[in-house]
Amino acid sequence: MTVESSHISRRRFLHSLGLAVPAIAGLPLASMGSAVRGPVTLAPDLRFISKELPLRRRHEWARVQPNPDRLRPATAAGYHRITLHHAGMDVIRSTSESAVVSCLDGVLGGHLQRRFGDVGYHFLIDYAGRVWEGRSLAYWGAHVSGHNEHNVGIVLLGNFERQRASRAQIQSMQKLVGLVRDHYNIQPGAIYGHIDLGRTLCPGRYLYPQVQRLNQMA
Ligand SMILES: [Zn+2]
Repeated sequence: MTVESSHISRRRFLHSLGLAVPAIAGLPLASMGSAVRGPVTLAPDLRFISKELPLRRRHEWARVQPNPDRLRPATAAGYHRITLHHAGMDVIRSTSESAVVSCLDGVLGGHLQRRFGDVGYHFLIDYAGRVWEGRSLAYWGAHVSGHNEHNVGIVLLGNFERQRASRAQIQSMQKLVGLVRDHYNIQPGAIYGHIDLGRTLCPGRYLYPQVQRLNQMA
């Protein structure tokens, strides 16, 4: 799938995803887009999440702007699956905001080093159960090789081959997955662990059973 041919249709696409496209004063629509460089100004409407679950937006924690030239815009068909991950590096039980932000910076920095346009996941959940926005839902993620289109990526900070997720982390995962599933009308059976789609241990042996249970949630 390539980038949409006109920015008017892109605007319509984004509206269909429930994403707001801020108007840029003085610029006709046709001049927006590839000629415009600099920070991504898209502000997805995530009230369907933030009404129910405290959500830290990307701009509240990330010091590096996404590079839109390396991101692929989501299309009108939206999202029809969700994939869960673990960060998979160190055991993480930090709950202080500053410690968590440095973990998030580490994930983002690692992905930028791999020349991703932004952190690969759409949402990140810390050990305290806080939910942090990652890559805008206006763009496909970069979290499962060959399966990123239409696939919301959620990562839990920690290494669940070596530790268990906290109760708060599991509860936030369940709530977030439920909200995203309902918003995009994602069908039963379409919630995966990374291991279901690729050769990896992710999301780890202690988390995977909880991920499988998500498909049975009401
Ligand atoms: Zn993974």
